[in-house]
Amino acid sequence: MRKIRKIKKTPQRTCVGCREAKPKKALIRIVRTPEKNIIVDPTGKANGRGAYICPKKECLEAAVKSKRLSRSLEVEIGPGDLKIIEDELEAIIEKESSGEHI
Ligand SMILES: [Zn+2]
Repeated sequence: MRKIRKIKKTPQRTCVGCREAKPKKALIRIVRTPEKNIIVDPTGKANGRGAYICPKKECLEAAVKSKRLSRSLEVEIGPGDLKIIEDELEAIIEKESSGEHI
């Protein structure tokens, strides 16, 4: 049986990698800031254009290969940007697997 929460609507976002809709909290937000930097935004509060992705390397790869990530951020993802996202994603995956919450 599922617990009924006070807030009925869980905001759902679609992963740019696997295209599955998931609760916002289960996804990682990647943001293109107004300064045109690409950052991983664990707080979900950074300014800029955002895209959501599962904390999985497979999804990041799919998102980049399909160009859905660059399309949703409206920016070219260079190898440097990709490296930053990869590193951040890895750190988040590691944290989550160690049971820590962000
Ligand atoms: Zn995904």
